[in-house]
Amino acid sequence: MVQGKTIVVKVGSSLLANAERLTPRWAFMHNLLEDLARLRESGAKVILCSSGSVALGMNMIGERPETAGLRDKQAAAACGMPLLLNGYKQVAHEYNFEIAQVLVTLRDLEDRNRFLNTKNTVDRLLVADIMPIINENDTITTQEIRVGDNDRLSAKIAQMLQADILVILTQVDGLFDRDPSEPGAQLVEELSDVSPYLAVTEGVSSLGSGGMLTKIQAAHMAQNAGCETLIAHGEYEQPVTSVLNGQRRHTRILANERPESAWANWLSDRLQMAGSIVVKAETAEAFKSGPRHIGREDVLSIQGPYVKGDVIHIYGESGSELARGLTNFSSDETMALARNPSLSAMQLLGYKTGGTLITDKNMIVLDDRHLPWDLPSGEGMTDVTRLD
Ligand code: GLU
Repeated sequence: MVQGKTIVVKVGSSLLANAERLTPRWAFMHNLLEDLARLRESGAKVILCSSGSVALGMNMIGERPETAGLRDKQAAAACGMPLLLNGYKQVAHEYNFEIAQVLVTLRDLEDRNRFLNTKNTVDRLLVADIMPIINENDTITTQEIRVGDNDRLSAKIAQMLQADILVILTQVDGLFDRDPSEPGAQLVEELSDVSPYLAVTEGVSSLGSGGMLTKIQAAHMAQNAGCETLIAHGEYEQPVTSVLNGQRRHTRILANERPESAWANWLSDRLQMAGSIVVKAETAEAFKSGPRHIGREDVLSIQGPYVKGDVIHIYGESGSELARGLTNFSSDETMALARNPSLSAMQLLGYKTGGTLITDKNMIVLDDRHLPWDLPSGEGMTDVTRLD
């Protein structure tokens, strides 16, 4: 059944670190890797996204997760990562396979070239039959430039590898129709439209960075990429295969049967907003018939700073998000072009350029399958007509 399938498994910090003592939970790691060895032997390509480095490094720096600041967490990750990976390596050897570490940052997922470079590395490891273990490089990322949770990170990896299944192991049985501690809360066994659940999923766990919200966002990214997501409790014998075989409760979020291209998914599924523009009413109207070039004459306001090659969010005047696209110019350049319509791009920027801000090929017009993001509030949003 799993023969030839690509399966991404995400495990949260609470499964890997004892909440009180912040020490490794070796029994869980054994269970997990034994099960992943079984999956590999059945012909699946398995990729593990593992949290745990921050929690497992806390003791070494004398901190607690509840009080640790960003710098503490960065240092804790540097301490915890070797402990975690050394653990994985030794346990994997018991089950007769090799692992390798891939640490990524937000930029490696949001920048197209880096995204493809990361994909090539992971593909090469899979060709060598080595199980990649992926985590965010928490030691060098700050609040502004981090993914922050491994749920969405694992979905990006699933999208990158065009995986068939994403399994998210956590500390609850799956998604509930309301806070699971409320009486009468029901497990949602299967769903395809995640949007009604976004409001009921805001709790965050004390050890990890995600909660159910980031899991639902992750499942949404995965489904757009044609990948099914299974969310289940991690504390179980054969934690992954028991879910894949439907032997216990879990939530299954169905894959979109007609996924968009890898390029369209990469464009539309963003982890962080690099910047945005508001366009004129006529331009907004034109999106109804699909992607179109955006020129400087279309822009009303700009929110940066962003750089050439970033994917920016395009809004109508009412604040509704219409499209996302890869920009050919930085926010400063865009501002210079939009504010000076009578001067050529050469005069303004000093180099030869066609002047299209975003081409139709590098754009995705949002529809029902996309979750729109709110227009950023006033700060940083500058009118092209306002001279400052
Ligand atoms: N990257 C973090 C770690 O290794 C965890 C992020 C998360 O909890 O999702 O500890």
